[in-house]
Amino acid sequence: MSSISDIAGRIHSVETFGALDGPGIRYVVFLQGCLLRCAYCHNPDTWDGCDGTSTTAGEVVEKILPFRNFIQSGGVTLSGGEPLVQPEFAAAILRLCKEQGFHTAVDTCGAVPMEKCREALELADMLLLDIKALDSEECKSLTGMGNENALRLLNWCQEVQKPVWIRHVCVPGITLEPQKLEKLSDFLTGFSCIQKIELLPFHKMGAYKWEALKVPFTLADTPEPTAAQMEEARSIFLSRNLPL
Ligand code: SF4
Repeated sequence: MSSISDIAGRIHSVETFGALDGPGIRYVVFLQGCLLRCAYCHNPDTWDGCDGTSTTAGEVVEKILPFRNFIQSGGVTLSGGEPLVQPEFAAAILRLCKEQGFHTAVDTCGAVPMEKCREALELADMLLLDIKALDSEECKSLTGMGNENALRLLNWCQEVQKPVWIRHVCVPGITLEPQKLEKLSDFLTGFSCIQKIELLPFHKMGAYKWEALKVPFTLADTPEPTAAQMEEARSIFLSRNLPL
C-alpha cells in the first residue's frame, strides 16, 4: 500500500510568509483547480485543474519543514483555487502537517459537497470560509453555483465547533448593499464557531489575468469600494457584536 506521502496532486504556487490567510505567519499552499467562476476572482489562473505543477503531499510538506521556526506562531494554510477540489491530496497534506505539529487551516468557498472532502475538513484545525452571498440565486449569478453547500458546511462547523473565519467580498452594487449586509450579519450572529469576519474590498488587481486568459472580466467597470463604504459595512457587523 502506498503511503499518504505519495498521494499526488497539482499546486499553483506557495507563499512562504503569508500574513493574510489565517492566524500568525503561515506557509500557504495554493492548490490548483476551482469549481466556481466568481466574477471578482483575482486568481483565474488557478481555475484549470490540469494546469499548475504536479507534486506529491510528501514533497509539499518536505518544502514546509525548513520554515518550521517562522510559522511556529501560525501554521500552514491550504488555499487555491479551491483546495477541496483535490480532497485526497488536501487531506494527505493536512495529515502530514498534523504529524509535524503544524496548525492547519483550509481556505475554502465551501462549494465542494462535504461527503467528498470530509477527511480534509476533519483534519483542518480551522476553516476560512468564503460566504459569497447569503441569497443563493445571487450567489449563483456571482459565482456559477448556489450557496447550499457552503451553508451546510457552516452548520457542520457549528455542530462540531470547528473554528471558522468568514470571508465576504464587498462588491459595490452587488454585495456591498446595506440591506444585504444587515441580513448576512443577522444570519451570522447564530454561529458561535465564527471567530472572525473579514470583509474584503473588491479589487481589480487580477484583471490582467482575465485578459491573459481571454475571459471577459464583467466587473471591469465596477468601482472598487471607498474607505467610507467599507467602514459603513464594518459598522453593520460591529453593531451586532460580530468579531471583525
Ligand atoms: S472560489 Fe476563489 S479561486 Fe474560485 S473562482 Fe471564486 S474567487 Fe476564484
